[in-house]
Amino acid sequence: MNIEFWGAARTVTGSMHLVEANGRRILLDCGIYHGRRKKAYERNKNLPFDAESIDAVILSHAHIDHSGNLPTLIRSGYKGEIYSTSATRDLAAHMLLDSAHIQESDARRENRYRQKAGKTLFEPLYVEDDAIETLERFITIPYEQPHQVFPGIQVSFIEAGHMLGSASVALDVDEVGQTRRLVFSGDIGRKGIPILRDPRTFANADYVIMESTYGSRDHDRAEESQDYLYRTVNRCCRKGGKLLIPSFAVGRTQELAYRLNLMWEAGELPPIDVYVDTPLGVKATDVYKLHPECYDAQMLRQMEVEKDGDPLGFERLTYTRSADESRALNDLDGAAIIIAPSGMCTGGRIMHHLIHHGGKTDTTIFFVGYQANGTTGRKILEGAKKVRIYGTEYPIRAKIRKGASYSAHAGRKELIDWAETVLDKGSPKRFFLVHGEEDAARSLAGELTGRGFPSVEVPERGSRYEL
Ligand SMILES: [Zn+2]
Repeated sequence: MNIEFWGAARTVTGSMHLVEANGRRILLDCGIYHGRRKKAYERNKNLPFDAESIDAVILSHAHIDHSGNLPTLIRSGYKGEIYSTSATRDLAAHMLLDSAHIQESDARRENRYRQKAGKTLFEPLYVEDDAIETLERFITIPYEQPHQVFPGIQVSFIEAGHMLGSASVALDVDEVGQTRRLVFSGDIGRKGIPILRDPRTFANADYVIMESTYGSRDHDRAEESQDYLYRTVNRCCRKGGKLLIPSFAVGRTQELAYRLNLMWEAGELPPIDVYVDTPLGVKATDVYKLHPECYDAQMLRQMEVEKDGDPLGFERLTYTRSADESRALNDLDGAAIIIAPSGMCTGGRIMHHLIHHGGKTDTTIFFVGYQANGTTGRKILEGAKKVRIYGTEYPIRAKIRKGASYSAHAGRKELIDWAETVLDKGSPKRFFLVHGEEDAARSLAGELTGRGFPSVEVPERGSRYEL
């Protein structure tokens, strides 16, 4: 058996690892790489291996940095199947189509300029048809039910607690009379994230590929998120202004809807309208409702005790779909909560809300996710008084709040606990830390080594290890 690390190696995007075992080539994740535009396009377009040579793909979860380059794999000649949980498949259906539409509209915009300049036209990374063909290749497997992918190779999924359908993966390989287990953590969630069950771990791992996004820092306690939201909503409501929450359409948006619903049910939500302004988020919420097999006990209980049986909706919460409904929010008077993507203010409907409401002193912008360097979200968070949106500068006079307890990723201590549990439940010989910036991965590697873990490595992109 051997592994090649082709993505999310010393970085956090483009998750992609190639395992060769029993003469089969199995790809773990096929995510999109985000980075500088030209480099990202080239890297995503030119896969580092022959797509036709891959025998199977295993997808840990639907986030686009794990699933988003599957249509390129198909377009490049991949003929095999894609294994995932069924919730991952259903979320991926919306996310891959959405991603294809973004690729197509980016290409159209770029080509308008290229055409005028007489330059060769730009080809989108992939188009809707590629995404649709990708969806036809999925084979879904329930959690904790091992499935034989090829003779001598079994795959199992276990709850990762990171998003609906998210899984850690075990590959059991029978080779030359010996069975060995390779565990891939996928993205590791946290205990106490609403809706989702807590992350679990596999026993008897021989080798472990583990994420390390927050390898060098901890979050505030997840339990503080509800309180902080309560205080922020009430403060904003007293002022009578808008509460803008930039949020990823899938995952965080449903968590916020759930938390606000809890406040509503408890009679704690002030009289305020809530708008979830994202078509993709609306579709994702529908997928959430289709998968009670992924819910934690509290979510199941909420469904039973609530009159409307819907913990993701309540009377004053409106899911807006059309562009007209979204535009109508520009002229809305009084207090209201508007949840809209993108989570880092890099595009999407939140930009229009920043244009119309960001310059008012009674508005609050509440960040509930990581704001990467260079994004408009980061600039606002760091106190920018004006930001450039679609080529024009707009003032920011809103109050800025940050919820440091919100994260769908385990913090440093939670990662260490996860690794300790895997170690206690078996005798893994090697850990490979991926999906973290180099500093974060090395910091976690140092900690684990100090605690007496066997070999802990931080592989670089393109490196290959014989196991
Ligand atoms: Zn993820």
